[in-house]
Amino acid sequence: MPNPSPSVSIPPRPRIPVAVLGATGAVGQTFIRLLTDHPWFQITALAASERSAGKRYDAAARWLSGTMPAEIASMCVVPCDPTYVDAPLVFSALDASVAGEVEGAFARAGRFVLSNARNYRLEPDVPLLIPEVNPDHLALLDGQRAARGWEGAIITNSNCATMVIAMALAPLHRAFGVRQLFVTTLQAVSGAGYPGVPSLDILGNVIPYIGGGEEEKIIAETPKILGAYANGAITPAPMQISAQVTRVPVENGHTACMAVALERRAEPEEAIAAITAWKSAVEDLGLPSAPAPTLAVTREEDRPQPKRDADAGRGMTVTIGRVRRDPILDLRLVALGHNTIRGAAGASVLNAELLVARGLVGA
Ligand code: NAP
Repeated sequence: MPNPSPSVSIPPRPRIPVAVLGATGAVGQTFIRLLTDHPWFQITALAASERSAGKRYDAAARWLSGTMPAEIASMCVVPCDPTYVDAPLVFSALDASVAGEVEGAFARAGRFVLSNARNYRLEPDVPLLIPEVNPDHLALLDGQRAARGWEGAIITNSNCATMVIAMALAPLHRAFGVRQLFVTTLQAVSGAGYPGVPSLDILGNVIPYIGGGEEEKIIAETPKILGAYANGAITPAPMQISAQVTRVPVENGHTACMAVALERRAEPEEAIAAITAWKSAVEDLGLPSAPAPTLAVTREEDRPQPKRDADAGRGMTVTIGRVRRDPILDLRLVALGHNTIRGAAGASVLNAELLVARGLVGA
């Protein structure tokens, strides 16, 4: 659910029609939960595969959490084809096997596509956007649309574990420069979609591997997110990253245990001060899904924990704890974020809110 900042009054405006592609999956359902009653957006189309198209939504989707909104249940699922979808903003929770082609077709047809899939994230002309961290990367859109001849555009958000890592590192990189990162993640089962990992593989177990290039995504996406925009291009942040991912029997919330080497050495208290003082780049825009705070620091010695902290800021806040000296590198810390909200659907909704605030959509 959107969480309007109490300090900013959001002017009423007609709600913008939006569509969800991959609406039946785990992330698609999170989109529906976040967009139902959204003050700026109204769901007018739900699209999924041929298996689902033509069915009522409640017959096509196995609803995973809480109660399916009544107005959604009776909607007819349509194919992932722009001719069936009359909405300027399109949220994509598509499987990567189809996202490339489908998202490109929607952008060509004049739609702004907010993508969760990996297909376009590393394209040099596609923003890998976190509004609080790198809103200036939206400037890539002019070149993207001109070079590809698209009336619309594609804006991506990162891999769900990368999101937690990049957000936690953003203040440290700005204040001290992150030179090296060793990270081990503990990733929730909801990150594998539905039905995801078989229960007999994950109950009482830890799996030290996640397919689809999860470690490579962290290594490639983090420097792009934290990189600098100039003259129509992003220069990735010059950092070395070593990543080990694991799947753990947690429902929601990805944890990242990090050790970092800094360009300028910092004590743990200086790092905490930098994180606490860090200001979201969109704090003053009144975006309905922007959490307050964006980053929360906990000093409790056994936090953050998925069960207690994944829902912070309605799933949009990243919680950082265990900030301490590392005997080999400079600092250790643990960061946690909700994978299907901050790491997926909520991130896309926030990206779309930035497009609206910038007048790119719905002006
Ligand atoms: P999921 O539960 O498996 O859902 C996949 C969705 O894609 C379903 O709606 C499915 O529709 C649709 N789909 C599959 N094949 C299709 C086709 N050929 N044509 C059209 N639609 C098709 O997956 P998910 O976990 O929601 O993930 C969706 C995307 O978000 C993926 O790219 C994933 O990597 C990314 N992502 C996920 C997370 C997370 O935490 N889960 C986080 C960040 C990013 P049907 O039901 O009709 O088959």
